[in-house]
Amino acid sequence: MPELPEVEFARGCLERWLGGEVIAKAEADPTRVVRGSSRAAFAKLAGRRVTSVERRGKWLLMRFDDELGLLGHLGMTGKFELAKPSEAEPRWSRARLERADGAVVHYRDPRQFGRLVVAPLAELLDQAPIAELGPDAWMAAPTPTELALRLSRRKRPIKDVLMDQTVMAGLGNIQVTEALFLARIHPSRRADRIAAGEIRRLCRAIRTSLARTLAMNSGDKITYVEETKRIENPFRVYGKAGAPCPRCSTTLRKLTIAGRTSAFCPSCQPRKPIGPDGPQAARRVRRKATPSRGSAKA
Ligand SMILES: [Zn+2]
Repeated sequence: MPELPEVEFARGCLERWLGGEVIAKAEADPTRVVRGSSRAAFAKLAGRRVTSVERRGKWLLMRFDDELGLLGHLGMTGKFELAKPSEAEPRWSRARLERADGAVVHYRDPRQFGRLVVAPLAELLDQAPIAELGPDAWMAAPTPTELALRLSRRKRPIKDVLMDQTVMAGLGNIQVTEALFLARIHPSRRADRIAAGEIRRLCRAIRTSLARTLAMNSGDKITYVEETKRIENPFRVYGKAGAPCPRCSTTLRKLTIAGRTSAFCPSCQPRKPIGPDGPQAARRVRRKATPSRGSAKA
């Protein structure tokens, strides 16, 4: 399912294919992809020049040389594809932006959870969902202090809170599962009880996981990990419950939080962190008793 790295990939493609181009024809099919907007609004993009393509969390924002903007979300299965003038229309094409040279950028989406909204740019920027997004997890990554503040008021599981786009924008099930594994934090721990040292590790882990996934995607085509069994799952723990932990070989387990399945390592991501998990946690432990160092799982 598309998260920040996959949406950034789509942004780069759209910028390459349409940046500076005048849209010769814009057409959307009568599907729920245009909910909240309309086919007529989409058709109005014809004759307008694309000035930039931006990403805000998991949303795409296309700017034109006038007041209109196109807001796009890839949902679960959405992607943009370029078809040269001689090429056939891809399956599940739901909307199309045609260039002057006859090449067509298709928005294809088998399951139609994605969205395309055309409206005045000021309106798109001032309203939900864009106005409600937290800082972008890649372009405006919060510092450990900023993230600590955002987590401090939240009692829900850290897994759930990190997927909340108003806390931080761009992360989904894959990136959060990977980042929590890298940071050695159990997914169901309360967000407001994550220690300062763990939050520092978490910030680094989010950066590492995003950078790794961003580097995996290049060229003009992308395949999502859920789409086909033909590609190997490239993630460390996401979707790998039952397999050995890549760090300690303990069997990875799964757990459902807020309706989404998380894979985690019960040894590397203990529910009750001690000692090595950060100065605050260590202080709490020292105050209570003096556990033997050997009890801390690495
Ligand atoms: Zn492990």
